Amino acid sequence: MTDRGRLAANALAVSFLLAAVVLASLRHASREPLDVRETAGEPGRYEARFTAMSTDVRLSMNAPSLGRARSMAAAALARVREVERLMSAYAPDSDVSRLNRLGGRGDVALSAQTMHVLQRAGEVHGLTHGAFDVTYAPLRDLWRDARQSGRPPDSAAVREALARVGFERLILGADGARFGAVGMEVDLGGIAKGYAIDLAAESLRRGGATHGFADIGGDLRFFGLPPGRSRWRVEVYRPPGLTERPLLSLHPCAVTTSGDYARGFRVGDEWYSHIIDPRTGRPVGDVPSVTVVAPDATTADALATGLAVLGPEDGLALVDSLAGVECMMLVRDAGGRISKHLSGGFHRFLESQ
Ligand code: ADP
Ligand code: MG
Repeated sequence: MTDRGRLAANALAVSFLLAAVVLASLRHASREPLDVRETAGEPGRYEARFTAMSTDVRLSMNAPSLGRARSMAAAALARVREVERLMSAYAPDSDVSRLNRLGGRGDVALSAQTMHVLQRAGEVHGLTHGAFDVTYAPLRDLWRDARQSGRPPDSAAVREALARVGFERLILGADGARFGAVGMEVDLGGIAKGYAIDLAAESLRRGGATHGFADIGGDLRFFGLPPGRSRWRVEVYRPPGLTERPLLSLHPCAVTTSGDYARGFRVGDEWYSHIIDPRTGRPVGDVPSVTVVAPDATTADALATGLAVLGPEDGLALVDSLAGVECMMLVRDAGGRISKHLSGGFHRFLESQ
């Protein structure tokens, strides 16, 4: 080999090596452009913003430099993207899509993350006596069609879809799952966001942050406390019909809000919630908003959806039986008036009304 040839070969080897190193370091980070800034008036605190799960994401953390904050945020972003990739109902090769396509025929291998979320979904299904049920998806499809046609489904169609709903017929193995009936499907839209929030917050903490939060679409998980402060303050989204602006003061925990004002839909003249009661097959009618405070966001997210189904009486009784969980539920009466229902300990979080 000529000198020049040897030089070229060496250069090639070095660039392969560099590429491998760069790829390895990107495995847990993300190449996406990230908006990371120091928080105004709070030196040493940084905020990153991006879009994920069809909504706005905000990560806040303390860090020794902008560069460190940037790499911490990139690692947290990668965790969120992973949840999107595995649990999206739209991506054809996600765990959820594969399970929905093939789960009626036999076991479908699933990632540890998806298995974990399905197990947590099962816990909340049990706690809510079936009100939270990720196998509600056939009902979602039914009401999606209704939205398009402008006519609600008839009772025979609801019965048919209900026959394909039921978490007890989702058979979970060690690293995979299958359906116990033909035509079943899962939708993790009521829990995956909470899980992504927990992973992002945990990632920031592992990256060295001692306090901060992960916020996806207004659902949050706080960790640690800023120096000199004993609480985090957060404003809950105000649904129409409520004049005051609920401001909460929280210890490090999670807070999520489910509500039909944000994501509902119209069929003919009626406004429907995007939350469906898996016992009746019909969208939840009279609970425009549920805010849940819980130790982690996975629990809070799923519970908020389940509590909207259960309604004030059964819902608040359940919350009062759970340690570390509180909730505020807005209920609409027949005349359209909104009333507020709080679990036993929720008033401790209300800063101003
Ligand atoms: P978001 O925070 O995304 O607005 P919510 O926390 O209010 O959503 O949860 C509603 C989502 O939960 C729905 O979009 C749907 O994906 C899912 N879902 C609806 N009804 C149920 C149910 N009964 N059990 C489990 N998941 C449900
Ligand atoms: Mg939810």
